[in-house]
Amino acid sequence: MLMVAEPVLGEEEKAALSRVLESGWITMGDRVREFELEFARQHGATDSVALGSCTAALHLILEALGIGPGDEVLVPSLTFVATANCVLYVGAKPVFVDIESLSLPLMSRSDAATKCTDRTKALILVHYAGYTIDREAWRHFASSRGLLLVEDAAHAAGASQAGTFGDAAAFSFYGNKNMTTAEGGAVLAKDADVLAKIRQMRGHGLTTGTFQRRSSRISTYDVTMLGYNYRMDELRAAIGLVQLGHLSAWNERRRHFVQLYARRLKSLCPAVLSPFSDWHSVSNNASAHHIMPIVLPEGVERQHVVDKLRDSGIQTTIHYPPVHLLSLYREQFPSVRLAHTEEFARRELTLPLHPRMEDIHVEQVVSALADALGQSASVEAAACERV
Ligand SMILES: *Cc1c(COP(=O)(O)O)cnc(C)c1O
Repeated sequence: MLMVAEPVLGEEEKAALSRVLESGWITMGDRVREFELEFARQHGATDSVALGSCTAALHLILEALGIGPGDEVLVPSLTFVATANCVLYVGAKPVFVDIESLSLPLMSRSDAATKCTDRTKALILVHYAGYTIDREAWRHFASSRGLLLVEDAAHAAGASQAGTFGDAAAFSFYGNKNMTTAEGGAVLAKDADVLAKIRQMRGHGLTTGTFQRRSSRISTYDVTMLGYNYRMDELRAAIGLVQLGHLSAWNERRRHFVQLYARRLKSLCPAVLSPFSDWHSVSNNASAHHIMPIVLPEGVERQHVVDKLRDSGIQTTIHYPPVHLLSLYREQFPSVRLAHTEEFARRELTLPLHPRMEDIHVEQVVSALADALGQSASVEAAACERV
């Protein structure tokens, strides 16, 4: 089966894991620190904080930025549920914003502007599919309204602009992301004090960690803030360091496949809409090309296409069921309507995209898709004739 996403793991990771086991220290220590510095360096920052997940990263960012009860936070609905959940964690209210259009499925500035109130404190931008577009415009949008700008950069590891234009950014190293540590996340922040606070909050708010106490003469600690256990460990950091060494080459390979998809789709499936097509070939690293979303023609039965592709050994997924339509959110925010997001989510299909693919896989996916769409068109035509 050709999967939508697949991690690249091999001998280097095995060797790195063995070295950690042999070292006798498996919880947070020197390797986590080394990973933090290298992750920051690759994103044009001086430091980062490694965590157990991107969800933990988003939670701590909102806490550290002082967002809480009574505050509103603008979020897209076309995202993974964690983006909105973290707003609920801190007792604030997520306010859902529509996407710009089917071909630019990122948060719409005009819709965001209409949803600002005097309670709006921050906005969370999601770099959907890995694209970091309109950075200056968002910076201006936030600063002119006095809002904090948080980047959910879960899709954008390795995109050089990701994580450095917001006040803080959260990255994910979950198994299906561009680089993985199995579970894992990291934070970049503009303000060193915010980063320091997040570093302390990840370890129960303790003033010194176990590793520091072991390797220095400090044998006690104090707790000066409410913290959590959101740490990364040495095993994950060791895998992460290996993965970081390949990230830019992997993202380059993703870009190659995205461009190939675009060309093949244009000739074999002209009715399929390919979002971000103006940005597919951006060469300045402005996308990590995390996923390959397409929008099926109006009226096509998506499940039929999904089934046909699965019969040909091709997995597809949907990014995403809109958050405002999930039961938890629909019950709390029943009146939210986001026309573009809802239409996009109805017609979207995510095609396989990962560095272990070969060109031939792209050809296979696009011809299987063309077949499925051809059949779907003739099924519909037959249905119309019968009516
Ligand atoms: C994967 C993902 C997350 C959550 O990441 P975890 O590391 O699994 O917590 C959050 N936001 C987006 C957009 C994601 O894709």
